[in-house]
Amino acid sequence: MHRRRTPLGFLTAYVPEELFHAAGFEPVFIFHAPEEYGKGRAHLPGFVCWVVMSALDQALAGALDRLGALALAKTCDATQGLADLWRRNVPQIPLFHFGMPSRLEGPAVKAYLMAELRDLRDRVEAFTGCPIAEHALWDSIAYYNRLRATVRAAYARVAEYAPSAFYAALRDLLRSHRPALPGPSPLPNAPRLILVGPALGDPVLFEVVEQVGARIVGDLFDLGERYFEADAAENGDPLEAIAERLGALTPTPTKYHAAHSRAARLLEMVRERNADGVIFARQKFCEPHGFDYVRLACALDRAGVPHLMLELEQASQAGQLRTRVEAFVEMIRGV
Ligand code: SF4
Repeated sequence: MHRRRTPLGFLTAYVPEELFHAAGFEPVFIFHAPEEYGKGRAHLPGFVCWVVMSALDQALAGALDRLGALALAKTCDATQGLADLWRRNVPQIPLFHFGMPSRLEGPAVKAYLMAELRDLRDRVEAFTGCPIAEHALWDSIAYYNRLRATVRAAYARVAEYAPSAFYAALRDLLRSHRPALPGPSPLPNAPRLILVGPALGDPVLFEVVEQVGARIVGDLFDLGERYFEADAAENGDPLEAIAERLGALTPTPTKYHAAHSRAARLLEMVRERNADGVIFARQKFCEPHGFDYVRLACALDRAGVPHLMLELEQASQAGQLRTRVEAFVEMIRGV
């Protein structure tokens, strides 16, 4: 018999979901919503990204009260600020903060990550009042490995799907753990694009890419393809397996690993997928992706790969995005 799990919201791409799952939670990602309740702006300045603003806005309006808790990993300044505000203003949804290190290389990283994971495990156990059994951790690791394998298999054929349907299915998976990918609809000779950005972009963007007759052949979204690229080992120490997986992922812009650079990964993807161009879909006011853009754009320029920068907002305007994406795709087509 399946026990009923308590939903746990999470933000950021470094939350050890397996640990929460093993404690009886159902981790579900909290996506930013286009609508606004008018609560968040009283606490956050106007130059905070909509991803963070919307999470707080939804929480203050009671729209997240179904959650038993929220988990955040240390990433950008905006989410660090959110953690402080959350504790003070959203007492009905307890917060678990996880200290993911910024540097992912060097001898201290593993020891640091293990200490953070043990501390998180202790806090979760104190909260639920139940120890997390080792077999439960192994079951959850296996469960997430299966889920990730399903997503990787879908990504292997991403170019065959209509972009809006593919990314809607991915969002559903992160919200409900139920993959529901529709049938493929190949579009031969469509310009092949790679998208880069935080979270999972904006549904309007995927619709626009589809409308202009292009296909997405991969992404470097914080919560996209990279999030599913590595599994945790299913033997040894379970916390160590989780730590090694977190450290093995392509870093997001708030993390650093000299031998595992985002620019190198992006160029590798462009080559492997035979991509015609790259679209950066940065959330307005997102500093980490703003700095990251400079490095990646230089690498693409050196390699002669066309790219376009778009800024996404609370409610992105389809018309404006379409004009820019259409012009970019026509340039790629040589029209
Ligand atoms: S969009 Fe940028 S600033 Fe906002 S939470 Fe994500 S990484 Fe942080």
